[in-house]
Amino acid sequence: MKKVLSFDVDQTLNVAKTPITDDIANLLLECLNHFEICPISGQKFDQFMIQIVDRLPNPTPEQLSHLHLFVAQGTQYYRFENGEWKQVYNYPLTDEQVEKITNAIEQSARELGFWEEDKLQPGDEIIENRMSQVTFSALGQKASTEAKYAWDPDHQKRDKIAARCKELAPEFEFEVAGTTSINAVTPGMNKSFGMTKLLEELKVEKSDVLYFGDMTQPGGNDYPVVEMGIETITVRNHEDTAFALRGILGIL
Ligand SMILES: [Mg+2]
Repeated sequence: MKKVLSFDVDQTLNVAKTPITDDIANLLLECLNHFEICPISGQKFDQFMIQIVDRLPNPTPEQLSHLHLFVAQGTQYYRFENGEWKQVYNYPLTDEQVEKITNAIEQSARELGFWEEDKLQPGDEIIENRMSQVTFSALGQKASTEAKYAWDPDHQKRDKIAARCKELAPEFEFEVAGTTSINAVTPGMNKSFGMTKLLEELKVEKSDVLYFGDMTQPGGNDYPVVEMGIETITVRNHEDTAFALRGILGIL
């Protein structure tokens, strides 16, 4: 019997970047009565709240105490204690690392003619420090979905920026993500880092964990978990996840 159910978020629990459905919310709430539940994703803490936690229908503090949030690929961990969410650990980049990455991205984008400051909405920014990673968003966060999709559909602009960044700051990884983004991290800060910390923090073995993800193929962002030897269920979308969870809850 598994003790821990761990989930990728985008496309595994939700439609990418949107709140989970009522169906997934109800299933997760029931799972909290039987398992430790651990979503792990590159997103920030506030997005875990909006997309998952706030969608759970009337969770009790006891249920929430079994929910473990592995934020920013598990470089940050939050747990519910005494009525509030507490950060248990955080592995941020240093100020020097953030500065070096920021300079490399800005220089690369300017050299290549892809620094689109004039297209930003008021108060928006192209480069965002997310503590454990620095993210380039070519048109900022607030641009329309259509504008974002149209900017670099074939990744050509970002592949060029990322390649130039790698020349300027070779000690970091620059990963093309989303529609207009590049994430810069220190090497190894992928889901295997987060999953290793999860095993430590929850004091469980690999064999105690069942992981759900949609990108479990080599090169996918869930593949590091497969490589660790953790049992994995590959899903296409949240409907597949719901189907699997019904099966698991049905045999308890
Ligand atoms: Mg995913």
